[in-house]
Amino acid sequence: MFIKEVAASLYPWDLADEGVETCVDNVVQRSLVNSVYLVGIMHKEKRPLTNLFYPHNTKRKFYLPEDSRIYYRMDENNFKNTPLKPLYTTRGFLQEKDWLDELTVYGRKNNLKTGAEISHTFFDCEVAKRDFPDVLQKNIHGDIIERHYCCNNDDVKEYMKAIFYDTVKNHDIDFIQTCMMLFATGEPVKAPWFMENDPENKVGALLGVVKGGCFCNHCRKKAIDTGYDWDKIVNDLKGLEQLVYATAYHNLDSVMDNHLLMGSDLLETGLLLEYPSLYQFLEFRMNSIAELFKEINISIKSANKKVDFRYNNYLKYPELAGLDFAAVKDYLDSVRDSDYSEQHGAPDRFKRKKNTLLKIRRGIGYDKNLIAAFAPRPNATPELVRESIKILSTLGIDGLSLGHYDGATMELLDAVKQGMQEAGIEIRI
Ligand SMILES: [Zn+2]
Repeated sequence: MFIKEVAASLYPWDLADEGVETCVDNVVQRSLVNSVYLVGIMHKEKRPLTNLFYPHNTKRKFYLPEDSRIYYRMDENNFKNTPLKPLYTTRGFLQEKDWLDELTVYGRKNNLKTGAEISHTFFDCEVAKRDFPDVLQKNIHGDIIERHYCCNNDDVKEYMKAIFYDTVKNHDIDFIQTCMMLFATGEPVKAPWFMENDPENKVGALLGVVKGGCFCNHCRKKAIDTGYDWDKIVNDLKGLEQLVYATAYHNLDSVMDNHLLMGSDLLETGLLLEYPSLYQFLEFRMNSIAELFKEINISIKSANKKVDFRYNNYLKYPELAGLDFAAVKDYLDSVRDSDYSEQHGAPDRFKRKKNTLLKIRRGIGYDKNLIAAFAPRPNATPELVRESIKILSTLGIDGLSLGHYDGATMELLDAVKQGMQEAGIEIRI
């Protein structure tokens, strides 16, 4: 089969420590990469994520990034319409350079596609809690949901649009990718401990959203303006939330309802028929995300109409975060799915990977590019990476994407090239 792209992500500290040339040359030569992108705004997360220490960083054993800092220059004039301003890294070894330029200049020299990623969160959560608590999502009781910013808040929207616009306008990239967290999904609800718990219980996953977001005043206003009876929705969902939290010791009035529901095989359909307000809440969130993506798309294209807007899906059920791919297909140019089951040894034999890729394809249609990620990192083996690529070659994908170079061993990077050859995958642009 033919694909258009093999992408690899790189972090600013990888480039600083190992050198831009070393990082890029490794993925190009060993994994046939023809597309490199900088994780330009990275959330707080220990690196490497899936192993104790770096396998090939010569300067350090591990790295602890700051929360959601920016590693390339921005034009502050683009942030006039929002109180949120770009926050840059304060680490000395990363401050001097524009790391996106560093990567794109060398990438272009090697005829590579280039991109930037805005990761899960795009603003420091502690700063937001201290100075701008209004921008964070609220749960059904009005409490802050950490790290989740409300996309119905105009200050948030303006900041996000400015980040996308500025990155595209002032850098030489072909795509801008984001895995920004959308509406908080809550945790899936489980059956009580003494009953059999089905990890695939989809009613439990759906019930999680009543513990998620967002129930802030901006959402309330937006919902009422677009015709929803928001106060009734919230009131009904508060009743459902009582049921979700009921245990043998708490919310006793709802405990039997909870246990019977979690022990039953009621479909999500049954739950939605009983709670039309839950459906309306989900629909409102879906409409909000579609509007957000539309506005971000307009910002990107106004900066450079040739640059792709790529969403990097990281959820098994993105619909529970408000993301319905059919609703946003007109505003996205490509989608990356970041299933990394190889790093767990693929115990489900790639079931989630297949299901999610087909779900996304069904939503976005055949004209938009679908990029499948895989994880050449510890707990994966060369055999598993090659097997994963072989399965991906049967799923109509348009590209592959490595996640992530920092934790990959050279042996696993080599397996990418071998796997592509064995699967008969060729790059044809
Ligand atoms: Zn909100």
